[in-house]
This record gives sequence, C-alpha cells and structure tokens, in this order.
Amino acid sequence: MWGYTERMTVVVLFVLGTVVGSFLNVVGLRWGSGRTLLGRSSCPSCRKVLEWYELIPLFSFLILRRRCLNCGEKISWQYPAVEILTGLVFATIFNFQFSIFQNLLFLTVFCIYIVIVIYDIHHKIIPDKLVYAAILLSVVNRWLLVGSTLDWLSRCQARTLCRSSLGSNAGFLCYHPCFLDRRRRFPGVPLLE
Ligand SMILES: [Zn+2]
Repeated sequence: MWGYTERMTVVVLFVLGTVVGSFLNVVGLRWGSGRTLLGRSSCPSCRKVLEWYELIPLFSFLILRRRCLNCGEKISWQYPAVEILTGLVFATIFNFQFSIFQNLLFLTVFCIYIVIVIYDIHHKIIPDKLVYAAILLSVVNRWLLVGSTLDWLSRCQARTLCRSSLGSNAGFLCYHPCFLDRRRRFPGVPLLE
C-alpha cells in the first residue's frame, strides 16, 4: 500500500505530465509552421492572445466550458486528451524499475510520438526528423536494457537491435492515425495554436 509520499509523488508526476502535454499540443501544432515555440498561444478564431488563466492544463478547459472567453469558439478535445494521456504516462513511470535516465528516455520517446500523432492528424504527413529521433532513442533505450556497450557488442546483438527497432515502432503503429478513420474521428474542430 502506498504511503503519503508515494501518493504525492504520483500526483506531482501527473500534474507535471499535464503541463508537458500542454506543451506537446503547442509543439505538434507549430512544428514546421515557422512559428517559434516561445510565442504566447492565441485563439485561432479571434486571434486574441490567451491569458495565463486560459492556459492552465485541464482546469482552463473545464472552467471555460470548452469555449474561448473572447469569441466563444469551441476548443478542441485534443487539448485535455493529450494532457490527460501525458499525465497518466508520467504518473505510471513511478512504477517503472528502470534508472532515471531510462525513464527520461522513455518519456522523451513518448512525447515525440504524441507530437507525431498531433502533426499527422493536422497535416496528414509525418515529419522524418521526429521518426528518426524516436527510432534512435528507442534503440538506445533497448540497448541500455540489454547491458553495457561492450556486453552488447561482445554478444553481437544484431537481432536485439532489429527487435528493438521493430518493437518500438510496432507500438507506435498501433495507435498511428493511419489505422483510424481520421475524417470521422477527428473532424475539423478549430484548435488553439
Ligand atoms: Zn477566440
């Protein structure tokens, strides 16, 4: 049974995950658009720059009742969905028995996948750079699980390398939008940018 410290750690990780998820929404929408990631978010309908209280993960979506305060345009479900999903994954990492470095690697790969999915939903194409980065990090993570560099080389783990690449990307393909009816599941709901 978890004690107070463990429960609070999970809660903090979940909240941190929602914040990261909120950032991933921005990255997925701005990737390749020429816009910097540092600019303030704005409503795509009325272009009003959003205030801080309109940008709190999950809470703003609920308190604003899914509408822009200025023009009343609906806010996409993508925002809370990505924030909740990322929060859950961050909270789950608490149970992993890996090193901090491996946990960070896993979370980084997960974040890249989320950005890929968001970008693909909106642009119907997947940026090569993101795919290569995810593959590289997945292989490195698997590599760390197998053992040290010398162990790995001495055992000539070519098959492991292949399995790492295939396994990590099979997981990605499972929830890739190519396998979904995107037009039906993701109608053109206006999104914050
Ligand atoms: Zn608006």
